[in-house]
Amino acid sequence: MSKPLKRYEYVGPEDLLELTESEPAGSSISALSDIEQWAEKTDQFASDPVVATYIIDTTGRLRIADRHCEHVACASGRPVLAAGEITFEGFGSNLEVVEITNQSTAYCPEPTCWTVVEKALAAIGIPHPDGFTTEFIFRRCESCGTVNIIKDDWYSCAVCEKELPE
Ligand SMILES: [Zn+2]
Repeated sequence: MSKPLKRYEYVGPEDLLELTESEPAGSSISALSDIEQWAEKTDQFASDPVVATYIIDTTGRLRIADRHCEHVACASGRPVLAAGEITFEGFGSNLEVVEITNQSTAYCPEPTCWTVVEKALAAIGIPHPDGFTTEFIFRRCESCGTVNIIKDDWYSCAVCEKELPE
């Protein structure tokens, strides 16, 4: 039996939750052609590479949205298995993922969620890196509630300077 996958609940500001009512959920991607269709529909071709917001929903499927879209809107406010930013390059037959991260202060997914991301990308059949190209470590300050991104093993809150849990 495999371990149940870790689900991440939305931990961002409450007012952003309202976006889930006005903004559409991320496009569900199960094939390379879905990415092309999404790019066409949302007019992404002006730039190459294309950076997008992504989440992996609780069924293990990749959902992507315009990079300016909030993760919580992309996920319709639901829990996720992973979240971050994804960069596509070479539209057409050369389409591949060139960069991918777990950067989402809305969900704070741990770097270990890569296994779920890997599985989703493999199912689509898109070439991709062997792991997150940039890994982020998040800590919520127990004192002021700010979500911090840990850099250089520096565990102190950027807002109130209190120590963060390691
Ligand atoms: Zn703080």
